[in-house]
Amino acid sequence: MKYDFMIVGAGFAGTVLAERITSELNKKVIIVDKRNHVGGNCYDYYDTNGVLVHKYGPHAFHTNSKQVWEYLSNYTSWHFYSHKVLAYVDGKKIPLPFNFNSLDILFPKKIAERFANTLLEHYEFGTKIPILKMLESQNSDIKFLAEFIYNKVFHFYTIKQWGLTPEELDSSVSSRVPIYLSRDDRYFQDSFQAIPKAGYTALFNNLLSSKNIHLVLNADYRDLIDSIEFDKLIYTGEVDAFFDYLHGSLPYRSLKFDLQQKEMEYFQELAQVNYPNEFDFTRITEFKHFLNRGAAGTTIAIEYPETYNPELNEPYYPVPTIENQYIFEKYKKEMQKLADSVIFLGRLAGYKYYNMDQIVGASLETFEKKIV
Ligand SMILES: Cc1cc2nc3c(=O)[nH]c(=O)nc-3n(C[C@H](O)[C@H](O)[C@H](O)COP(=O)(O)OP(=O)(O)OC[C@H]3O[C@@H](n4cnc5c(N)ncnc54)[C@H](O)[C@@H]3O)c2cc1C
Repeated sequence: MKYDFMIVGAGFAGTVLAERITSELNKKVIIVDKRNHVGGNCYDYYDTNGVLVHKYGPHAFHTNSKQVWEYLSNYTSWHFYSHKVLAYVDGKKIPLPFNFNSLDILFPKKIAERFANTLLEHYEFGTKIPILKMLESQNSDIKFLAEFIYNKVFHFYTIKQWGLTPEELDSSVSSRVPIYLSRDDRYFQDSFQAIPKAGYTALFNNLLSSKNIHLVLNADYRDLIDSIEFDKLIYTGEVDAFFDYLHGSLPYRSLKFDLQQKEMEYFQELAQVNYPNEFDFTRITEFKHFLNRGAAGTTIAIEYPETYNPELNEPYYPVPTIENQYIFEKYKKEMQKLADSVIFLGRLAGYKYYNMDQIVGASLETFEKKIV
């Protein structure tokens, strides 16, 4: 059989394009993934506790894009959920991003009040102020707070997360750390925040349900490409691998999840608790908080960042350094040369961290601009 498109990768990028191409254009697609499941890094499954576990780390959907929300709502109903994160600092758990509630938990009442008043004399209530900007302030309280947040929340977490110091990473990483002048404890403030009611995998199965989509799992596209007839390739895998590492390999940070089932109702207060300073893991996720509040037991994942090795583990986060960006720019030029025959899309081909909604949005745009 001849296909109009061969798509490499059944994550959000590949799956949304497969759905669009078959529903809107009535064309034939073969979609190939080397893993034994659909969904890419968003894949989830029920464990023996009856808890829906996110295999590749916690995924909370959030977006400000009405278009993305409405598109996905055709394929799932939603469980409304606003993600909250606590960080264990000085023996206490404080909300992240650092806000007025965090101040109240960590400092004596009078000092917390003084800090809050000083902040509001300098900045607007409800805004997020990057701590790098606060460090430029002449005010000693503001400077102290910026240094406190940098040291207690960011510095050691960054070293654990990346295996590099903040100075070795692109400055965009530290420039994003804010103090939020608010009592809003949610991690995101987006207009739409939810978890697919039947889970992410069910959402992917719905997106892939057309009879014109031929799904092949457990297969590297390189082993199939010569035996399959198709007109155009859509590639959502690693860009350096596509070009046989012509310009060297692009480093990733990987993760190891120590999954533990517990015979207790809940292990921790909410889905995510970060440990910036103690231990060698970065965070503990308790999946039951996302969706399965009725389950008898509970399941947690203790997350250990580690070096990426293609033979041993998964590529999770592109490492944001200037050197790596320089290598990626060379691959970008290679991709441009193939623009007529291959569409490159997704977090691995773009060598950049993207949220799910950004990938869905980029896939919808790619369909309109490059395929229709
Ligand atoms: C730990 C972690 C937590 C995250 N949490 C959130 C969150 O809370 N909210 C949020 O919005 N986003 C989150 N994200 C981001 C989210 O995972 C991505 O936006 C999304 O998975 C990107 O989809 P994708 O299709 O580009 O890539 P992927 O999901 O990685 O899909 C690419 C697929 O291509 C396949 N593939 C690669 N090479 C080949 C090959 N040679 N042959 C066949 N198949 C191949 C892979 O197996 C993979 O399944 C998180 C990411 C990580 C790493």
